Amino acid sequence: MQNFDVIVIGAGGAGMMCAALAGQKGRSVAILDHNEIVGRKILISGGGRCNFTNIDARPENFVSQNPHFCKSALARYRPRDFIKLVESYRIRYHEKKLGQLFCNDSAKQIVDLLMGEMHKGKVRLILSTKINTVNKDNEKFIVTTESGDFSCDSLVIASGGLSIPQIGATGFGYDIARQFGLNIVETAPALDGFTWSHADLDRFGPLAGVSINSCVSVGKASFRENILFTHTGLSGPASLQASLYWQRGKKISIDLSPDLDVGRYLWKRKQEGARQEIKNLLSEILPKRFAEAFIESKKLSGPVTGLAEKTIQALGDSLKNWQVEPHSTVGYRKAEVTRGGVDTSHLSSKTMECKDVKGLYFIGEVVDVTGQLGGYNFQWAWASAVSAAEAL
Ligand SMILES: Cc1cc2nc3c(=O)[nH]c(=O)nc-3n(C[C@H](O)[C@H](O)[C@H](O)COP(=O)(O)OP(=O)(O)OC[C@H]3O[C@@H](n4cnc5c(N)ncnc54)[C@H](O)[C@@H]3O)c2cc1C
Repeated sequence: MQNFDVIVIGAGGAGMMCAALAGQKGRSVAILDHNEIVGRKILISGGGRCNFTNIDARPENFVSQNPHFCKSALARYRPRDFIKLVESYRIRYHEKKLGQLFCNDSAKQIVDLLMGEMHKGKVRLILSTKINTVNKDNEKFIVTTESGDFSCDSLVIASGGLSIPQIGATGFGYDIARQFGLNIVETAPALDGFTWSHADLDRFGPLAGVSINSCVSVGKASFRENILFTHTGLSGPASLQASLYWQRGKKISIDLSPDLDVGRYLWKRKQEGARQEIKNLLSEILPKRFAEAFIESKKLSGPVTGLAEKTIQALGDSLKNWQVEPHSTVGYRKAEVTRGGVDTSHLSSKTMECKDVKGLYFIGEVVDVTGQLGGYNFQWAWASAVSAAEAL
């Protein structure tokens, strides 16, 4: 049995950050992962360039049953703190849009940074290791694995959510939480976009590749960016964002022309003497393939001259408030994150430690705190890791 002060399970962004800082404080730390390499999700993040933070990250960018829970950690470790670390490794980065910071070169630089920090903290890295059991025996946690048995005073669960099982995501963290009596807020794939209902699939599936600058709303959450039609549904940043807020059976509302009153525009064009077919007139402001499919879905046809003002206005309204009832979101195989997770009511928001199980910590995506698209999820990984590490 090998003993450590701290064992971290999960060598993703949150786990590595926490292990490194605990090690740098002088704790003996081991980090275990069943994957053969660390940070696999970091490597594929941000299209290979890792959107490692968002300079405007605020609690309002996160979804949780308790929207206040993330405040303390986010205030303690801010985007500028991670940027300082990035700069200390001379990693070149840029703001792509909306406060989103990406590496200029490669996401691997972020993994190397975390490896560098773990090296400074003399963290023992134990990879390709299947974890069999976790138990608490008096004051110590006992972790049995295929690479031997370990004990520790503090156990940090940083095993992430269920998204992208193909690179090793599992429900391990939720199982451990349940084993120790913690509730799990229902999980769902998120930041994955939508699939069409059967009826819409026939009509809009053929539009794959069409992109429209839109405003997508789910309840009170609204996102102004592109939507992208795929063979099976809707992707693109605005759809991904909306999928974080969507519940099965609910509708999403899409304003397909946020900067223009479409009804007035079409009516004005008719007044000016436009004679085109309505689908062609609409193609002046929306992609042609979409305009044709949309006009067909409204059972309209023929030249605009034959349409009454009321009909034109109704068409405009339906483009400003297109109601779509998705069949589902795309699912865990494509989801950037898992919504839900370990119920924060069991955790201290200052330290991430379980209130009822001394020495047991949950950090990163396994916790019921999920960020919007745009660097927020990494900021949560870093911030929650720092909160735990300070307490270890
Ligand atoms: C394609 C994609 C792109 C993304 N892009 C961005 C982005 O640009 N910006 C952003 O902010 N967020 C992005 N995200 C989200 C972000 O990657 C995650 O929120 C973040 O990595 C979560 O960090 P984590 O350390 O909590 O979990 P993870 O990174 O998932 O790490 C968990 C670790 O635990 C290990 N593990 C799991 N189960 C077990 C087990 N049973 N035994 C042992 N080890 C186990 C895994 O192998 C993994 O190494 C993206 C996600 C995806 C899928």
